[in-house]
Amino acid sequence: MSWPGVISAYRAYLPFAESTPIVSLNEGNTPLIRADRLAEALAPGAGLQLYLKYEGLNPTGSFKDRGMTAAITQAVHEGARTVICASTGNTAASAAAYAARAGLRCLVLVPQGKIALGKLAACLAYGAEVISIDGSFDDALALVRELVQRHPIALVNSVNPWRLEGQKTGAFEIVDQLGGRAPDWHCLPVGNAGNISAYWLGYQQYGRGLPRLLGGQAAGAAPLVHGRVIERPETLATAIRIGNPARWQQALQALDASGGIVTAVTDAAILAAWRLLARLEGVFVEPASATGVAALQQQIALGEIDPAGQTAVCVLTGHGLKDPDTAVQQAAPPHRLPADLAALEGYLGRET
Ligand SMILES: *Cc1c(COP(=O)(O)O)cnc(C)c1O
Repeated sequence: MSWPGVISAYRAYLPFAESTPIVSLNEGNTPLIRADRLAEALAPGAGLQLYLKYEGLNPTGSFKDRGMTAAITQAVHEGARTVICASTGNTAASAAAYAARAGLRCLVLVPQGKIALGKLAACLAYGAEVISIDGSFDDALALVRELVQRHPIALVNSVNPWRLEGQKTGAFEIVDQLGGRAPDWHCLPVGNAGNISAYWLGYQQYGRGLPRLLGGQAAGAAPLVHGRVIERPETLATAIRIGNPARWQQALQALDASGGIVTAVTDAAILAAWRLLARLEGVFVEPASATGVAALQQQIALGEIDPAGQTAVCVLTGHGLKDPDTAVQQAAPPHRLPADLAALEGYLGRET
C-alpha cells in the first residue's frame, strides 16, 4: 500500500478537524537503518544497537517536511493566502514546496551568505520569494515574528505549534520501526530546538516508553549548553547556526524530564562523524545532521554514556546534497589520468 504522508498515517494522534483537507507530499516513512559498522567504531565490542533515522529522504530533503505538511494544512484551513518564515535553509525549502502545492504566496528570509547551495536552489525552483537579510537567523526570525503581528500572514517557523504536531510523528515512526518500543537514547542536533521538543511530545503521547534525549549543539552556537544567548553564532553546520533558540525552555524541560544530556561538539568532531556516516554506512548527510552522532561519540568517549547493550537512534536531519560545497571542500580533488588503459592499470597498482 502506498504511504499517505504523516497526517493521514497518524491522524488519530493529531488535532486536525475531520473536514480539514490535507496538503501533503507523502512525507515521512523514512528508513531506520541499522548501523553496525558505525556502532563498532563508536563503542568497540559494547554491543551498542545503533540506528539511523534518515530524515534526508523526505520530499524536500529534510525532517522539516513533517512539520510543514501540518503548518501549511492548518494555514490553508484558516484561510491564509501568504506564508512566511525565517530559515537557515531547510525550513525555507520545505515551506516553499508545500506553499507551491497549496497555491500560496511564500516569502522566506535567509541570513546573507549563510545558506547552503542545495537549499537556495530548491527555494528558487519552488518559486518562493527569497529575501536575504544582512544579519543572522535570529535577526530574521525576530523580523518575521513582528511582521505577522501587523499583517495577515501565516508564520510557519517552529514557533508555530502545528510544526511540532507534525514533527512529533518522527517519534511514532521510530517506535513502530523498533517493533513497538522507544530506544534507550535518542540523539539529534539542536538548533532552534523545535525538533527535540517535538520528539519529546511524540514519545510521551505514544506511550510506548521514553528515551533519554541527547542533544548536540555546535561549539560555536551552543546557547543551551552555555545558558546564554550567543550573539554571533558560528559553525559550518549552517542548519544549527542559531544563538537564541525559539524553543529554548521547552527543550530544557524535555532534556530534564528525560534524564538527558545537551552537549557542545566542535566543527571538527561534527565533520569526523559526518565522514564516518558516509564511509562506514553509505549514508550521506549535511554536516549539521551528523551532530547527534558526534554527541553520542563524545559522550561514550567521556564515559557519560555506557553503550553496553543499549539501543540508540540518531536522527539524521538533512540530506548530504543540501550542502555540496562542504562535501567537495572536505575531499581531495578527483584523480586525473589520460584516457588509456596503461595509465589506469598504473593507477590501480599504486599503493593507497
Ligand atoms: C532545522 C534543522 C536542524 C535543527 O532543528 P531544530 O528544530 O531547529 O533544533 C538540524 N539539522 C537540520 C538539517 C535542519 O534542517
